[in-house]
Amino acid sequence: MRIVLLGAPGSGKGTQCKRIVTRYGLLHLSSGDILRQQRVEGTELGKTARTYMDSGALVPDQIIVEMMADAIMKAPDAGFVLDGFPRTVNQATELAKSLAAANQKIDVILNLQIDDQLVVERMAGRRSCPQCGAVYNIERFKPKVEGVCDNDGTKLIQRPDDSAEVVANRLETYHLQTEPVIDYYKKNSSTVYDIDANKDAEEVIALVFVKLDALARG
Ligand code: AMP
Repeated sequence: MRIVLLGAPGSGKGTQCKRIVTRYGLLHLSSGDILRQQRVEGTELGKTARTYMDSGALVPDQIIVEMMADAIMKAPDAGFVLDGFPRTVNQATELAKSLAAANQKIDVILNLQIDDQLVVERMAGRRSCPQCGAVYNIERFKPKVEGVCDNDGTKLIQRPDDSAEVVANRLETYHLQTEPVIDYYKKNSSTVYDIDANKDAEEVIALVFVKLDALARG
């Protein structure tokens, strides 16, 4: 299965992806995680991406398309879930071209739909582990010990791009540049499932599994 997960920042893409890849044995490819890793490693790519990321803007298409094409090449035959990519129509068409060159295509697009106001509330409470990337929420998904990662004891941080001002920019970027990707897939007769992501994560994943189980059965 080759899946694209679309949705605004804070719609729960990362959480849902982890559950999907575990159930179906797929590779989780998050463009945001790959970029953050490049920054930690201090690569040229990481340095270039930094300014864009910290202001809530998108990293230029060409950089992202090459980076993701490399990552997709390493995916197992079982398939992958793309999380945070494609985020522009241009990225979507480039992705389709590189998959077609390998006789592949995206099988399904899951579109997580969420209200902006809920995104703002969720992001305000979001805390991440700078070491392992685990994500918590101070209201809805607390770590066992306040302010500390359950996995490795690292002090949790608020990602710089989760601050209120940057979240507003990220939402604007999403509406302007990423929402047209949904129309692109709908017009190209791909299978697109709209999922109500205002619900609890458990309810959302149940909806997602119903759709994907049906697809997996063929
Ligand atoms: P995310 O963790 O997916 O919200 O991504 C964090 C940031 O990384 C975004 O706000 C962008 O600056 C950058 N980024 C991630 N994926 C992409 C992409 N597909 N295209 C352009 N920029 C991206």
